[in-house]
Amino acid sequence: ANAMKDWAVEKGATHYTHWFQPMTGITAEKHESFLSPAAEGGIIMEFSGKELIHGESDASSFPSGGLRATFEARGYTAWDPTSYAFIKDGVLCIPTAFCSYTGDALDKKTPLLRSMEVINRESLRILRLMGDTDTSHVSSTAGAEQEYFLVDRAVAEGRRDLKFCGRTLFGASPPKGQEMEDHYYGSIRPRVKAFMEELNTELWRLGIHAKTEHNETAPGQHELAPVFTTVNIAVDHNQLTMEILKKVAERHGLLCLLHEKPFAGVNGSGKHNNWSLCTDLGKNLLDPGEHPQSNLSFLTFMVAVLCAVDDYQDLLRISVAGAGNDHRLGGDEAPPAIISVFLGDEITAVLAALEENRPYDPHKLMELKAGVKTIPSFYKDNTDRNRTSPFAFTGNKFEFRMPGASLSIAGPNFVLNTIIADALREIADRLDISGSAEAELRPLLAELLKKHRRIIFNGNNYAKEWVAEAERRGLSNLVSTAEAVPHFLDDKNVGLFVRYGILSEAEIRSRYEIIMEGYCKTLQIEALTMAEIARKDILPAASSFLTELASAYSGLIRVCPEACANPGDVRLALIKKLSGLTNKLFDRVERLEFALSACNSAGSDVKAMALHCRDQVYTAMQELRAAADDLEVIVGRKHWPMPDYGDLLFSV
Ligand code: ADP
Ligand code: MG
Repeated sequence: ANAMKDWAVEKGATHYTHWFQPMTGITAEKHESFLSPAAEGGIIMEFSGKELIHGESDASSFPSGGLRATFEARGYTAWDPTSYAFIKDGVLCIPTAFCSYTGDALDKKTPLLRSMEVINRESLRILRLMGDTDTSHVSSTAGAEQEYFLVDRAVAEGRRDLKFCGRTLFGASPPKGQEMEDHYYGSIRPRVKAFMEELNTELWRLGIHAKTEHNETAPGQHELAPVFTTVNIAVDHNQLTMEILKKVAERHGLLCLLHEKPFAGVNGSGKHNNWSLCTDLGKNLLDPGEHPQSNLSFLTFMVAVLCAVDDYQDLLRISVAGAGNDHRLGGDEAPPAIISVFLGDEITAVLAALEENRPYDPHKLMELKAGVKTIPSFYKDNTDRNRTSPFAFTGNKFEFRMPGASLSIAGPNFVLNTIIADALREIADRLDISGSAEAELRPLLAELLKKHRRIIFNGNNYAKEWVAEAERRGLSNLVSTAEAVPHFLDDKNVGLFVRYGILSEAEIRSRYEIIMEGYCKTLQIEALTMAEIARKDILPAASSFLTELASAYSGLIRVCPEACANPGDVRLALIKKLSGLTNKLFDRVERLEFALSACNSAGSDVKAMALHCRDQVYTAMQELRAAADDLEVIVGRKHWPMPDYGDLLFSV
């Protein structure tokens, strides 16, 4: 804080305060008084001319999604006082909202802040109806667990796919992957430990409290969990965390990969978005307490979440869409593209009793005993950890597990805030009519539960049977980004965002274009990188190995014909196999390039283009990869032009 103050004074700040508590409930009217010496908390610097409060920048190179023409270049920034300012690399950074000259939001912070106001308003309305007059503010809170891979930088340098795409586009399975399941609980290696220590220090300097750090499932994979805070600060902190992860890794000779699926065959990386609602009095509205069955506010907020997730499955899926995450969703390490809610046995039983209007019979917690005198016995948790569910209730919060490792969590959180606010509004509207909240609430919640019960699933979401079961229940299954994102434009979704002033129709359309274009561009860059590596590196490597084999073989025939007289001679067989695979590889490069060139004829319709990329380009990429990986298995090590999976995954 002192360094910051010195810096601010040196830069001519006329006024400075520092605070430690996150601010909530800041409104535009309070903004001015906020800059008075009496303001409490946070970091405030008043510069003459107040240039920090809003700024102007050239937004012309920012993706516009058709929202504005290039000549309409102005973009405005506005200081967001509900998140911390911080000093990074000697520069004062101020979290800001970003909008265009036309007033359209260009960022994810603006809709997020709007959604926080909406969820505050609708939550307060419910609380008031229940007779709570003390609470004056409700914030949504988030803690985003961040998964990542660490690879030795020098080893990674040999991979152009990592350089351009952040993921490997080729690579045969190494002899050892994660099958021994020995990494998660394995001890953290010294080099990684040193990295984590410096990472913590750097994060703490920025006010980001990293709480736990451990190994993840795949070799080279790790996780960081921060202490949760308001969603707005959590989003800013997560963005900073991703940047700091990369920077600190570099100092340790490491490369930090935040891609959703850097390696085929081992787990990908996600970001678990833990979400809840907290009052200004510190009450967690999703905390069931000791007697959930009689905790009316808990039951109401819980039912609202179920209604929201069921009604807006598609929006939650869209909020995590992207080319990288498509590899993860539905793989064995991430929940499938089908949205459902895990509640665990106890809460499921509580809600069943509520739905059937009967008393709930709490079941006793089971005692676990090690059977050793010196080890104390303890009680089992009420819920197990269901790792397979995309949206799991974990005691007093929901854990949304679909976001990918590189995603900004702003999108998922503004969707969560908005859809849950909408469900709360529906409940409050219906209570308003009759007047007496207490008596009306139970039957209403029972009715809503009956309607939305299909969204609850406590079983194994990875099982094949679940896909069929979900289809029977009528749940949506939007497998790829190209299929999911067009539903952003559905009337019900546009209506929702417009109704609450989260996004205008124009803003939705532009975001739709930007996401779809981003998807296509990502696939095209990956395809071009693959074609380049295949032509310039793999084909020459396979050819040189082939030449070496052929000349050795012909030499051998000359020197000692009887040594290779056997028609099944291994050298000959290898030459034939290698030659066949090399031809196959060449053929598949050509096919990929053809699919790519056809992108141009898909026209300007982003949906058609995205579907073409998914159906034609991506399929051709997978075929090319299969041929290259087959080759990798038989080409001699010294000929293979890049570090392999074994080198990469076990490099640290
Ligand atoms: P797990 O590995 O079981 O998923 P962790 O303890 O690693 O759990 O992470 C839990 C995350 O949830 C942490 O980032 C924590 O700060 C966050 N969290 C805890 N309580 C809340 C809450 N009320 N609202 C939002 N996030 C929360
Ligand atoms: Mg988790």
